[in-house]
Amino acid sequence: MIKISKFGGSSVADSKQFEKVRAIVQSDPDRRYIVVSAPGRLGSESSKITDLLYLLDAHRQYHVDASVLTKMIADRYSEIRSALQIAYPVEEELQEFFSCYTKMNQAEIVSRGEYYCAKLMASYLGYDFVDAKDVIRFNHDKTVDFEKTAEALNTQLIQHPRFVFPGFYGADENGRIILFPRGGGDISGAVLARCLNADVYENWTDVSGFLTADPRIVEDPKPITHITYPELRELSYMGAGVLNEETIFPVRDSNIPIHILNTNRPQDPGTIIQERIDEKGPPVTGIAGKRGFTSIFIYKHNMSGEIGYIRKVLSVFEKYGISIEHIPTGIDSFNLVVNDKDVEEDLYAILSEIRQQFEPDEIRAESGLAMVSTVGRSMSNTPGVSGKLFSALGANDVNIKMIAQNSDEINITICVEDRDFKKTIRIIYDTFIRENEK
Ligand code: ASP
Repeated sequence: MIKISKFGGSSVADSKQFEKVRAIVQSDPDRRYIVVSAPGRLGSESSKITDLLYLLDAHRQYHVDASVLTKMIADRYSEIRSALQIAYPVEEELQEFFSCYTKMNQAEIVSRGEYYCAKLMASYLGYDFVDAKDVIRFNHDKTVDFEKTAEALNTQLIQHPRFVFPGFYGADENGRIILFPRGGGDISGAVLARCLNADVYENWTDVSGFLTADPRIVEDPKPITHITYPELRELSYMGAGVLNEETIFPVRDSNIPIHILNTNRPQDPGTIIQERIDEKGPPVTGIAGKRGFTSIFIYKHNMSGEIGYIRKVLSVFEKYGISIEHIPTGIDSFNLVVNDKDVEEDLYAILSEIRQQFEPDEIRAESGLAMVSTVGRSMSNTPGVSGKLFSALGANDVNIKMIAQNSDEINITICVEDRDFKKTIRIIYDTFIRENEK
């Protein structure tokens, strides 16, 4: 089985985390290809090594003495090396880097965070080190050249059957270091997974994957073990984020599952994300919500007979650069749901413009609304889900202001008053998820 195992900054923050990584790697012989970030924050006090390196670069640009900073960086790596008695002489290598960083550019400087971390980890695990600059090849427009990258990776694999690889950077055809955007260690792992056509891309972090609901609202919510990308998109859009979806496009495109796992609790099942899951799951995969919406209700007598009316009204919002979240429609009326903050300044101007130009019979706005999405890929072939949802909310006196269901039927979004926000999520959770646990 081909696995790419990527460990994020919190998983390699100090010697204790390194020990956890080694135990995880050694517990599975398929963990042969390891990608690491630079050491992340250690509690609330310390900084990410990458942030310190950006600062170091700023010192370089302004010709300011950076000895305090270089000591902070060196101490972090030194703690790992000395506590674990790692053979790789990181302190010496860092001294050499600090003696010449003023001649380097920003990308070279910042990339050293993952570089030294990967070297230390390779030495600790007894794996080879493979440098990202010799493998990940960027085009001129800073996109990845997957063909050249796959070629380079396969060449490296012949000599290095088990390796540790620094995330976050690669190089262009002239060997100049190029960085991915911040948090881009995830992209490096995804690129390797795609180039090796991996069976799974393991993403080790500090949470055990996705939860079925926000733990600040629902007590001890169940984890989500399997989720599809479309479901993930719906839930993340409503604020349930663990992973930056954009960073994993290389594996999504090639249908490689991602397994989100927790370095601090490796026994947890984590969450597997896939494009499609064939077996039927529970009707509800997860619930997420957001507050702070305004709904604009527009009624126009005989609107159904007037072609282009909604488009004309929407053009006013476009002119003000406002994105529309939902448009539930009736026969002669519709609602436009937007973010409160987007219309904070212009709401009255927008309403009067619509009034003057398109003469609706009624137009009114209501702010302080919340949206709650109930998401599940199996919902579309389970009759009665919406009936159960609405009866549970009705029985608990939650007034539903609006309902929207998208066409692939994996999401029912409802709009409620802000004061009912948490209550709504708890009721849906109890009805569909807690109920299933019994
Ligand atoms: N070290 C880089 C950052 O902090 C990349 C990563 O951690 O994924 O953004």
